[in-house]
Order: sequence, then C-alpha cells, then structure tokens
Amino acid sequence: MPQAELQTGRIDCQEEDARLSALASTGILDSEPEPSFDAITRLTAEYFKADTVLLGFADESRVWIKSYWGEPVRELPRERSVFEMVLADDGPVVVPDVSKHPNFTGSRLTIRRLEVASFASAPVRSGDGKILGALAVFGCQPRRRMAVVEMRMLESLADIVASQLELRRMRMTFRRCRQRNARAPKHAAGTWPRKSDLRQALDKREFVLFYQPEVELSTRKIVGLEALIRWQHPERGLIPPMDFIPLAEESGMILPIGDWGLSEACGQIQRWCREDPQQGAPRVCVNLSARQFAREGLADHVEALLRQSGVSSRLLGLEMTESSLVSDHGTALEVLSSLRRLGVSLLLDDFGTGYSSLHHLHSLPFDVLKIDRSFVSRMTEPSDQPLQIVRTIVELARVLGMDVVAEGIETQEQFALLRQLGCRFGQGFLFSRPVAADTISEMLRLPGRILPEPAESATAPMECVIEANYPENAKMEMAHDLS
Ligand code: C2E
Ligand code: MG
Ligand code: MG
Repeated sequence: MPQAELQTGRIDCQEEDARLSALASTGILDSEPEPSFDAITRLTAEYFKADTVLLGFADESRVWIKSYWGEPVRELPRERSVFEMVLADDGPVVVPDVSKHPNFTGSRLTIRRLEVASFASAPVRSGDGKILGALAVFGCQPRRRMAVVEMRMLESLADIVASQLELRRMRMTFRRCRQRNARAPKHAAGTWPRKSDLRQALDKREFVLFYQPEVELSTRKIVGLEALIRWQHPERGLIPPMDFIPLAEESGMILPIGDWGLSEACGQIQRWCREDPQQGAPRVCVNLSARQFAREGLADHVEALLRQSGVSSRLLGLEMTESSLVSDHGTALEVLSSLRRLGVSLLLDDFGTGYSSLHHLHSLPFDVLKIDRSFVSRMTEPSDQPLQIVRTIVELARVLGMDVVAEGIETQEQFALLRQLGCRFGQGFLFSRPVAADTISEMLRLPGRILPEPAESATAPMECVIEANYPENAKMEMAHDLS
C-alpha cells in the first residue's frame, strides 16, 4: 500500500537520523585510526583465522573503516555492503558461501585483492541499541556454518567495541560538564582535607593498610591480597581512599604516601612470612597511581625497597589502571618491562573501563587483568551484554596467556556465573571485605587457607560469616570499614 510505504519510509528516515546522531555523540566518525581498535580486529582475526577483518561505522553514504586487519581499507560504499545486511537483519549475518547467497548471484564480493568466499558480521550498537557499525570477518574459502559459541564470540567482540564507544560518549559528556564548571576551584578553601592535613597524617602515622583476599574461585583458597589504604583519623574515624587519594594525587603528596604504602606492604609481607615460614605469605598487590608511575627510577625504587625489607619480588604485585600509565606508550613499556625484570607481578586494574584497554592488554607486559567491578555487578542483569563482555574478557585473557581476577563479587549468582565462564580468580565482599592485617593473619591460619563457604548474599550475611570466624578484631574492623 503506497500510504503504508510512505509511512515506513518516514519512520526509517527518523530512525536513520537517530542512528546518525547516536554515532556523532560517540565522536568516532572521521576520527583518526586508534591502536585500541587495531587490537580488536587483530584478536578477531586470530580467533576466527580470518583473511581480513574490518571494523566499520556507517554514515549516510559510506562505511568508514576505523580499523582493518588483512586487506588495507579506508572506506567502502554503503550501498550493498555487509553493513546494510546487518542493518536489514537488525542483528548478525553469517554467509558461509557467498556464491550460494541470493544477494551475490552473478556478482563477486571483493575487498581489494581478496575475493571473498565467506563472511560473518555482528553489529556494534550504541547504548540505546542503534546499529552504529559492524565488525566483520572475511575468508577466501567457503566455511562451515558458524558454531553458536563462535557467533557469541563475534558478538562479544563487537560488544567490547560498543562498550568502548559508550565510555567515550560518557567521557565526552563529562568533559563538556567539566569545561562548564572549569572556574570552580577543585578543593575550595575550607573543604577538608587539605594538603597540610595529609602531610600531618603521614607524620603522625595515621594511614593504615587494609587487605582484601583474592581467592581461587574453585577452592576459595586465598592466593593473594590487595593492599588498600585507609586513613585512621582520630576524630573523623576511618576515611576511605577515594576521600583523600585524589587530593594526594593532585597535590603530589601521593609520592610520600605511596612510598609509605609500598614499604608498609613489604614489612607486612615479611611479618606474614615469619608467622608461617613454611607456606610464606601470599602475593600482596599494591595500587600505584599516575604520579608514582611517571616518577623517574620507579623500578630502582621498588628494587631498593625489596632489598631493604628482604622480601622476594614474587610476593609483590603492582596494580595500575590504564589512566595511571603514562600516555607515551614507549615509556610505559620501558617502565613496566623494568619492573617485570625485577620479578614483581603487574596487574591491569579496573579492566574494561578505559577505551584503549585492548591495546594495553596485548602490547604491555601485564600478567594479570582485573575485570572491573561494574561489569561483574551487572552480569546478572536481564540484558546479557555485561555477561558477554565478561565472557569475552576471560576468553581474551586465556588467548593471551594472562590470569584474570574478577573484582567486586558480591553474590552467589555472580560467583557461580564467573566459575562457569572459566574465570579462575576473584575478590569481593562475598568472600571478605578489606580487613586489617591481624584479621588476615587469622585467615591465613585456616586449613589450606580456604575461606568459609560464602553465605547466600554478600553484604550482611557475609559479615556474619567473618564475624563467626574472627569474633573480636573482625567485628571492630567491620564496624569501621567504610568501603
Ligand atoms: P581498586 O584498586 O579497584 O580497589 C577495589 C575497591 O573495590 C576497594 O575500594 C574495595 O574495597 C572495593 N571492593 C572490593 N570488593 C568489593 C565488593 O564486593 N563490592 C563493592 N561494592 N566494593 C568492593 P577502596 O578500598 O575504597 O579503594 C578504592 C580505590 O582507591 C582503589 O580501587 C584504588 O584505586 C584506590 N586505592 C586504594 N588504596 C590505594 C593506595 O594505597 N594507593 C593508591 N594510589 N590508590 C589506592
Ligand atoms: Mg586495585
Ligand atoms: Mg579495581
């Protein structure tokens, strides 16, 4: 019916407008190629043994290639493209044999020098589900039908691109807000704390390290500990790090505070080794911030600390987020390599929240990646996107030979799902909140260092489990811990 057709046409136009504005809001269109996206096309090619992989985004008339692996392509006409097929199907498209597909009878599909015999493509969607682009794998041979698990992998890889774009969009919005508020001073006079408060706290030894166990998920055995700083203020009580670390970073106080943290952690490792000379201490991981990372001679400094405390380097881990790495890739590689040569473990913290994650993942010498809590907490949501992302991260880590630690496990359901996905290690309130060193000593005395079976849900019942096992000191720490 002509009228219906007209109406459909109008709706399509509106949808296309909405799609284009979603695309513009990510800032991806016409942006320079970025290695982070090259990492994903390369990993896709490795996984699918593809001859060419393209990650493209479509404007009105063309598919503009953000990253390729194999045949070098900058852009393609949108008409009759693989992207159009993905858009028409509103989902993934698999063509195992191009010669038998009705769209290609009597015509060939070529990408530069590659005569395409088979392809598959999955959509890259915006936060509200609009198809912005597609990730496509191409082969020069017909292939068997795609297994469900392979299809899921392709969709998950496209979802990772989508989550990177969503973060980029959020960051752009945030930057705009910040520019608007640029005149307001960050730490206005009269707000607490000030730099001098931090200096005093350090002099008066008011900082303290808490430790959170990292467990092997199949056994609940403690395999590591994360050191997390708190400020034990005489009047204000226990202050969580997010209330003073940003000021410490901004004011430069993070350097002496960070030095204190590293040497305190080394001293504590020594004490745990003495308490249990047979098993020794588990690896203790200390968080490093950007200023510490950018400091000249970081590796020499860590080496000197290890020597002074007599701690073996394999008992120390250093956690960094992507944003704390220096932006110059060559320097980051140099610093990390020299730390690695010392024998300390390097952990990429909050993985998945930085948009260049994949680049760092395979080009820098990290040996562990920690899946950010935001993905773990959303894993059980009705939309299975976060679950897919976690699945893909676990799979990528496996391909790259890295260990994975899931952060922020709070529920039995998350715990069970992570185990199903093959994630080996985790930490979270379900097992234990961060607690004082004495409580950790008690935990390390448990048979096999295996933590008690977690209660049904994380917060309240878990505290009961811990209290039941470590009655006196644990109760006090639970009451104080604000995390
Ligand atoms: P992070 O390194 O990602 O540490 C994990 C944070 O998640 C900790 O918060 C921990 O208490 C919290 N957490 C762990 N499991 C769960 C869970 O199941 N549910 C929830 N809701 N949260 C959980 P915390 O101790 O407040 O530390 C926050 C951040 O402060 C850390 O994030 C780290 O970036 C920074 N930080 C902590 N200690 C230090 C330090 O000594 N030096 C530096 N530079 N930064 C530190
Ligand atoms: Mg950390
Ligand atoms: Mg983290």
